[in-house]
Amino acid sequence: MKNLRIFDRRQFVLILWVLLTTGFMAISLIGYQVSRQAIRAAIIDQDLPLTSSNIYSEIQKDLVRPVLISSTMAHDTFMRDWVLRGEKEPGEMARYLKEVKERHGAFSSFFISEKTANYYTGDGVLKRISSFEPRDAWYSRVRGMSEDYEINIDPDLANDDALTIFINYRVFDYNGDYIGATGIGLTVDAVQRLIGEYQARFNRTIYFANSRGERVSLGKQAQPAPALRQQPGLGPLLDRILQERHGSYQYEADGDNHILHVNYLPEIKWYLFVEQNESVALAGIRQTLYASLAISLVVTLFVVILIHVAFSRYQLRIEEMASTDKLTGLLNRHAFTILIDKLLAEYRRAPQPIAVLLADVDHFKEINDRHGHLAGDQVLQLIAERLLAGLRASDIAARWGGEEFLMVMKGCDLTEGQRIAETLRQKIEAAAIVVNGQTIPVTISIGVSQYDGTELPDLTVNRADAALYEAKNAGRNRVKVATQSNMA
Ligand code: GH3
Ligand code: MG
Ligand code: MG
Repeated sequence: MKNLRIFDRRQFVLILWVLLTTGFMAISLIGYQVSRQAIRAAIIDQDLPLTSSNIYSEIQKDLVRPVLISSTMAHDTFMRDWVLRGEKEPGEMARYLKEVKERHGAFSSFFISEKTANYYTGDGVLKRISSFEPRDAWYSRVRGMSEDYEINIDPDLANDDALTIFINYRVFDYNGDYIGATGIGLTVDAVQRLIGEYQARFNRTIYFANSRGERVSLGKQAQPAPALRQQPGLGPLLDRILQERHGSYQYEADGDNHILHVNYLPEIKWYLFVEQNESVALAGIRQTLYASLAISLVVTLFVVILIHVAFSRYQLRIEEMASTDKLTGLLNRHAFTILIDKLLAEYRRAPQPIAVLLADVDHFKEINDRHGHLAGDQVLQLIAERLLAGLRASDIAARWGGEEFLMVMKGCDLTEGQRIAETLRQKIEAAAIVVNGQTIPVTISIGVSQYDGTELPDLTVNRADAALYEAKNAGRNRVKVATQSNMA
């Protein structure tokens, strides 16, 4: 009865699958997009500015004070007087520098005299500055610069692990003539630690750029300043960044989106760049997306399998219910027409005689009238049972009408059909039907026809019906064979 499909289960399951999959996927993707927007907004509006300002305040703590100290040194009357007096007692200068260094916990303190080129430290004269010595090139720069001071990272320091920064402050005499440079050197490992921490914890890149747009090296070995202008993605933005001094920017590099926060630190004349690779930041929620997609897939699979199994069972029952007659359990008329089509298709492949028997209970109205409708129903059930018992497995029996039964027999010609009909008739007549303790005599009349190989099946049934009519007319409880049949 597999061909009695009420709806196409496979199609239904497919639609369900598509609906669930698209639904889950849409939810996952929308969730991902929303999180992505939220994360991006948080990076731009909170994370990067916060990191930037934290580092900035740390730097202010570490650098602003030394700049003030250096400024005080440059304006100190002792220093200027001492130079104007002709740098006579180096010990005095050394004591002064040592005192400054110790009081402020600096790494070093120094004064370079323009006149003598002496490099004074807390320990006395360290050396003489030479314009040919590359390591002393900074002094010529300081001499020539227009600003009061510069902040310089020394590339070659004894204290090799810590980042050391020099404040080089220009010193003038009372007439405004340049007489040398002074200042202190200090380790800003606090800043460096903070930067390292932020970089590691948040996957952020933090660095400084000078006003020429070069990245400032803070490592123990100073590399040649990398020009940010040459950096892919960032390069084209650089002029704008240097001009605006403060803001959020985005650029693409190596297929990743980078979010950049820039802050200008006027005290040290550097730009603080805090950068976040957005793709890296999104890795977490991308994992979540994949996980939720995988879960959706599994859930969908389970739901579809469950529904498939449930439907298979349910549909079988529905099909059974739709195709059988409730009272007798025989096929109903609808199921029968479907089966007969199948039978005819089979016939076309391999022709064999098909006999059709139409049985009708004799005087059934009287049985109903005498014993009641419910007893009539029981009689019909018993007749159906007995008819079915007299048939082969390959035969088809259906309840054709109220008290009419149609039987179709493969491999049975008219003579054989007539013989079986006669047997069935006798069986019904012989076995008394007992309902509610009352014996009800029941007989049936049967009309027999044979499929002629070409006609519509309805016609074969009609001929059996005509034969049945003859049997009724001839006095009932008998078998009649259809007369006009053009046998193939
Ligand atoms: P005959 O066929 O011998 O000419 O006489 P009949 O009394 O059987 O005639 P008819 O075919 O006209 O009557 C059939 C009766 O069967 C009429 C109807 O009330 C009854 N009937 C049809 N279906 C059912 C059913 O499901 N249960 C019961 N109890 N009676 C039914
Ligand atoms: Mg009838
Ligand atoms: Mg009848």
